[in-house]
Amino acid sequence: MIYDAAIVGAGPAGLFAAYELVKNAGGGLSVVVLDKGYMARQRHCPLAKVGKCVCVPCHVTHGVGGAGLFSSGIINLRPDIGGDLHELIGSWSVAMDIINYVDDVFVKFGAPVDRVFEPSGPTFSDYQRSLAKVGAQLVPIRQRHIGTDGSIRVIENFTSYLMEAGVRFMVGTAVEHVSKDGGLFRLKTRRGDVEARTVLMAPGRAGAEWFRDEARRIGVELNPNPLDVGVRVEVPKYVMDPLTDLYMDPKVIMYTRSHDDKVRTFCVNPGGFVVMENYDDRTVGVNGETYLDRKSSNTNFALLTSIRLTDPLEDTIEYGKSIARLATKLGGGRPIIQRLGDLEDGRRSTWDRIRRSIVEPTLKFVTPGDIGMALPHRVVDNLLEFLNKVDNVVPGLASKYTLLYAPEIKYYSMRAVVNKLMETTVEGIFAAGDGAGLSRGINVAAATGVIAAWGILVKLGKDINNELFNKIKQ
Ligand SMILES: Cc1cc2nc3c(=O)[nH]c(=O)nc-3n(C[C@H](O)[C@H](O)[C@H](O)COP(=O)(O)OP(=O)(O)OC[C@H]3O[C@@H](n4cnc5c(N)ncnc54)[C@H](O)[C@@H]3O)c2cc1C
Repeated sequence: MIYDAAIVGAGPAGLFAAYELVKNAGGGLSVVVLDKGYMARQRHCPLAKVGKCVCVPCHVTHGVGGAGLFSSGIINLRPDIGGDLHELIGSWSVAMDIINYVDDVFVKFGAPVDRVFEPSGPTFSDYQRSLAKVGAQLVPIRQRHIGTDGSIRVIENFTSYLMEAGVRFMVGTAVEHVSKDGGLFRLKTRRGDVEARTVLMAPGRAGAEWFRDEARRIGVELNPNPLDVGVRVEVPKYVMDPLTDLYMDPKVIMYTRSHDDKVRTFCVNPGGFVVMENYDDRTVGVNGETYLDRKSSNTNFALLTSIRLTDPLEDTIEYGKSIARLATKLGGGRPIIQRLGDLEDGRRSTWDRIRRSIVEPTLKFVTPGDIGMALPHRVVDNLLEFLNKVDNVVPGLASKYTLLYAPEIKYYSMRAVVNKLMETTVEGIFAAGDGAGLSRGINVAAATGVIAAWGILVKLGKDINNELFNKIKQ
């Protein structure tokens, strides 16, 4: 059988693309979705709860619903959080409309109608004003909270709808290679080849390396994305409560005076734990998690500087890896921990000094050391400037006891060069979502899937009777 469209990856990007294809083309289109992982109800991983998933493929990142199926499922209702959709399509208002459309579809499949949060009111405005005074922005984000249980239910409803509409799901099926054979595409899998007229590559962050290698092999042009480098900050929970009481994951952004670099908070975990991450290349890093059933008395969050490189080294992934290698070496295979006061005084931390702190580290498998020796000077400058300025608004943030863990590095996939309808430089191959470097969150991943579907329909010569599509076309 020759499919009209083959979609690689059943995360938000792939699912929304399949939805939009069948919705616009009625029953007249054959669509197959291939995923390395399994259906939502088959995905389970007790170790995921403690951040030590060892299943292959990992149930946390692979399978229908994509990465984050087991997370708290927060849909950020802005096009510039979770990606830069407005830049991709060249219009803020159309990008906002598409994000709202994605939200409507989530609600259609069972996302809770009443769980929308929008920080507002005099306290929020006061914080915005005080942060503006020190050169920082507190970003107001409307968010829908689907919740972990809700996410699984929504994805099951979504999948049932697609299956009833005739979409075929091939799970447990990794696509090894994509090749062009005459006017058709051939997707090689261990369960046999799949042929299709068009292909959407939406393999997510876990499939980013696969995407990069395939893209290079078949001639899809790629550009490097910026890299985010920094530390995970840990403070007593009461220090951050005023901000986390405003909304769950407060986003504070500052362009620093020292280097005019963007520094931002990310992944704030009230009452959470700092966790260690091991990468395939034997480097280590840190991240943060919150659990429903156990809480710490601290709050942690990532404080990251965005780095974009130009000639001669554009490869930010390689740059990030070299920082991770240095930090891992200095930490003897463990993340480095340092008190802010020790970093400012130019000396390493010791267990003795950390024990005399008011913050007890939630991650103990660390080496007290000197982050100043592991991270680039400008990254350290940026984070010190941020903490000291924001301390005027959130007292205690820049206390000498504040704990810093390094390295926290967010690698973003190489970004596929795409047109407004997400078609890559190889005709008939479309890209969407995190794996193609086009998003960093559920909202924008889904939106790029919707747009790619429109591109596929145009390629297949189908009419699209859709107001949003008409807006993007203009
Ligand atoms: C723990 C966690 C919590 C998160 N929480 C949130 C949140 O609350 N809000 C938010 O906005 N974002 C969150 N994110 C990020 C969010 O999950 C991603 O941005 C989003 O899922 C990206 O969607 P995607 O469709 O691009 O890719 P993914 O969701 O990653 O899906 C890609 C799919 O492709 C499949 N695949 C990969 N390679 C192949 C191949 N070769 N052949 C076949 N299949 C393949 C994978 O198995 C996977 O199922 C979270 C992520 C994680 C890991």
